[in-house]
Amino acid sequence: MEGSRPALRLVQGVNASPAEVEWWWFCGHCAAPAPGQGAPAPGARVCMSCGLGLLLETRKDVAPRPKDAFLVIDSSLLIQAMSRHAQRLLDIAEESAVNRPVGELLVPADAEPGSAGGFARSIADAAAGRDEGASAVVRPWNTFGVRMRARIAPCGPPRAALVVLEDTQARRLRAV
Ligand SMILES: [Zn+2]
Repeated sequence: MEGSRPALRLVQGVNASPAEVEWWWFCGHCAAPAPGQGAPAPGARVCMSCGLGLLLETRKDVAPRPKDAFLVIDSSLLIQAMSRHAQRLLDIAEESAVNRPVGELLVPADAEPGSAGGFARSIADAAAGRDEGASAVVRPWNTFGVRMRARIAPCGPPRAALVVLEDTQARRLRAV
């Protein structure tokens, strides 16, 4: 096993030198960490914990934990994978969500003009490998009055955007 680094690392964040960034292999379905955290062999990308997800790499500080709701989205803003918790939160099965535009399931929580574009742009940037440490405030398409912070970061291969929803214990909007 040689320590070849994955293609994901082509673009480094502005604020993090390569030495500061820790990388993490996780399952795109159940978030289980890859055994040993080495780059999996090309033929061994399927998660051994759930047998469903593909192992993906992302920044360790953004990587989802098993209880997180998260989605993997490609550069066309189409959903490629989602965690069990995301399926529950968004009330959709992964099979039905794959290849659907993420905008059908997650919408910006702020109704300000341009916020939709910002969320989409952050995803497109991350899917292109630009690691800006982006986040956005979104809500599930089927729920009003809920705001969730979405952490957005590159993951792969193949290159995609990882969207991890924080505080999915439905934080209610306080009356303003
Ligand atoms: Zn898994």
